[in-house]
Amino acid sequence: MIEVEGLTKRYGDKVAVNNLSFTVRPGIVTGFLGPNGAGKSTTMRMMLGLDRPTAGDVRIDGTHYDRLKDPLTYIGALLDAKAVHGGRSAFNHLLCLAQSNGIPRGRVHEVLDTVGLTAVARKKAKGFSLGMGQRLGIAGALLGDPRILMFDEPVNGLDPEGIHWIRNLMKSLAAQGRTVFVSSHLMSEMALTAEHLVVIGQGRLLADTTMADFIARNSRSFVRIRTPQRERLLDVLHGAGVTVVESGSGVLEVDGGKPETIGELAARHQIVLHELSPQQASLEEAFMQLTAESVEYHAHSETPRDLRRSWGEDWTGRG
Ligand code: ADP
Ligand code: MG
Repeated sequence: MIEVEGLTKRYGDKVAVNNLSFTVRPGIVTGFLGPNGAGKSTTMRMMLGLDRPTAGDVRIDGTHYDRLKDPLTYIGALLDAKAVHGGRSAFNHLLCLAQSNGIPRGRVHEVLDTVGLTAVARKKAKGFSLGMGQRLGIAGALLGDPRILMFDEPVNGLDPEGIHWIRNLMKSLAAQGRTVFVSSHLMSEMALTAEHLVVIGQGRLLADTTMADFIARNSRSFVRIRTPQRERLLDVLHGAGVTVVESGSGVLEVDGGKPETIGELAARHQIVLHELSPQQASLEEAFMQLTAESVEYHAHSETPRDLRRSWGEDWTGRG
């Protein structure tokens, strides 16, 4: 478990991380989502004791990172895959890490096997492709068999096969009961990987909720209607107690409505329809709105209709 409490980081005037509090729990993949520059990497560095917080606190299974003996056996992390000494072989890189953390040599072979680098273990890391570098970084994170794992944008620049592999690895680590915390700036990627979401924008917490809840709140479904008999259809729908929103250029929208119901109502009143189509607002779109407007939201200024409704009352999921 990772507990973050009031975590703040300033760089001069810039507040990179602003009073973040959340808990990352074991047994599931928790996605750490936010656009570029939101403060994800800064937060992760502070979690690992690589950066000193301006204020606030991080506890790893109840203890500060600095006070962990052999920290790699508690928490493994992939931060910057290029942080490997290029002149060393994959094997020697991992062996150095193992020796400085009291980890037996045999474990190096195990993790090389897990990440599929056994065949190139004696090759120098500087000749590695991006994907191989990511795998080596992940091998380093797994080395101490830690209960907690942290990955910062692990799929960046990977090919589809590499992305698929990392996704499955994260899920299987969580299924073993480990705490898995993974960052991304892509909603679509997190939707496929994470069970819980911590969303930040401009250093602030925007949401801390389950993926299912996030999707339910943000994937607005509605029916889009076009008709040459607009006024008549509006009368009929209103008469049937259906709430209609008039969007631009003569298009009508019914939130959460069924095309069947609307189509049958229209037929009964002999109203011609030119379009009757179920629509789903994309999650990626909702996420971009949410993060882009984070600051404005706090000032209670205008937000789009659907977001204002779905995030209006309880948008951190914490009440
Ligand atoms: P993310 O990982 O979400 O893309 P970062 O944590 O890298 O975001 O950055 C958050 C903000 O803090 C950015 O505006 C970035 O420019 C700034 N920042 C990060 N590290 C430093 C630093 N060492 N000095 C000054 N500003 C920094
Ligand atoms: Mg980053």
